[in-house]
Amino acid sequence: MYDVRSMKAEEFIDDQEILDTLAYADANKDNVEVIDRIIEKAKERKGLSHREASVLLACEMPDKIEEIYALAQQIKKDYYGNRIVMFAPLYLSNYCVNGCLYCPYHLKNKHIARKKLTQEEIVKEVTALQDMGHKRLAIEAGEDPVNNPIEYILECISTIYSIKHKNGAIRRVNVNIAATTVENYRKLKDAGIGTYILFQETYHKKSYERLHPTGPKHDYAYHTEAMDRAMEGGIDDVGLGVLFGLEMYRYEFAGLLMHAEHLEAVHGVGPHTISVPRVKRADDIDPDEFDNGISDDIFAKLCALIRISVPYTGMIISTRESQAVREKVLPLGVSQISGASRTSVGGYAEEEPEDENSAQFDVSDRRSLDEVVNWLIKLGYIPSFCTACYREGRTGDRFMSLCKNMQILNCCHPNALMTLKEYLEDYASEETYKIGMELIDRELENIPNPKVKQIAYEHIHDIAEGKRDFRF
Ligand code: SF4
Ligand code: SF4
Repeated sequence: MYDVRSMKAEEFIDDQEILDTLAYADANKDNVEVIDRIIEKAKERKGLSHREASVLLACEMPDKIEEIYALAQQIKKDYYGNRIVMFAPLYLSNYCVNGCLYCPYHLKNKHIARKKLTQEEIVKEVTALQDMGHKRLAIEAGEDPVNNPIEYILECISTIYSIKHKNGAIRRVNVNIAATTVENYRKLKDAGIGTYILFQETYHKKSYERLHPTGPKHDYAYHTEAMDRAMEGGIDDVGLGVLFGLEMYRYEFAGLLMHAEHLEAVHGVGPHTISVPRVKRADDIDPDEFDNGISDDIFAKLCALIRISVPYTGMIISTRESQAVREKVLPLGVSQISGASRTSVGGYAEEEPEDENSAQFDVSDRRSLDEVVNWLIKLGYIPSFCTACYREGRTGDRFMSLCKNMQILNCCHPNALMTLKEYLEDYASEETYKIGMELIDRELENIPNPKVKQIAYEHIHDIAEGKRDFRF
């Protein structure tokens, strides 16, 4: 029985409720009256339920889809302006005891190079990331209680925060590790992590069990209930995601929103971010073996619908996607992207030898961070290296209430400009510096509050003089 407040995975992600939702969506996908009513509701910025959003996903009327895209763009503008937050993944270890069929780190893959960074190697990796200009990392590790115990992860986080190279610093470490216990989540919280990210991969229980035939990840309930345990452990920013291509995208989309509704109903705060990865080619993985791949158009529609269904949740795309696809979905609601990513273990400090592949997937967007920053500026976006909220204690419901009252706009915009200024001073190429400074000059004028504008002007000047780390 479907119960949004239940703490049991099979009840808050009830299979029958999803099937009923899909049937309801099919029954109403041409019903203009229902569709208009749902779009009107979305215009109030209060989000949509999984049933309402699923109707819009099923709808194929071109004029309605246009309306949805226009609304997604408007909501993106209202809440996120033209800022795009930058981050990079850091792979700590690809030892893994699970048997995930779509990931080359699975236990039975004997020819992939297995690596685990030592603390000395982490210093090298993080120094290389700082030298590019990154301030925000997402650390990744396979599940392996012997090679990657929680103590190892905690030690890595502590090392990462301690490294200060030139003007560099990693100011926020998000963590993407396997589902774990409340006690371990508490330890991660105490270590000062930002968001805890865990992709569901698929909400379809039977497919989930088939795709995860061996290892602790096989347990659907333990995996699906991880975010509840994380929140119980005090982590109030959690990031959801499914791996599109594994199951039917309409099923996944409904499950994803049901999960968000569950977190909101039980913990009073929805997901901080939603990621939208698609299955990609990798060492012994052929994405064509999964027959639920989605086209770029459906991918864009999903992004737009996530934006209007959960307006306050950040949306992340990675370098799994090409420059062209990223360009297409940025205006539809994406708020965070990775840049210059390496998906191999130890890939930042040194290029991997040809015969030693430790990457989790093939990167589609292979540009340097400076090229990505330059590209964003030319498209009219402000690349932001801001990490202010977490460091000011604006997490969980404190963050959400600021966001819902649109107060976040008084922080994000000047913070984006100040952190971009730091990037330009310390890491940018000559051309990026030039167009970046022009952007900052223009955008400073768009700060509505005169006092904030004055302070931002002063801080931008201070950064040029060598000072760092200002924030609202
Ligand atoms: S997806 Fe994660 S758990 Fe599964 S094999 Fe890859 S690293 Fe291991
Ligand atoms: S002020 Fe907060 S919400 Fe805005 S970009 Fe910075 S960290 Fe994100």
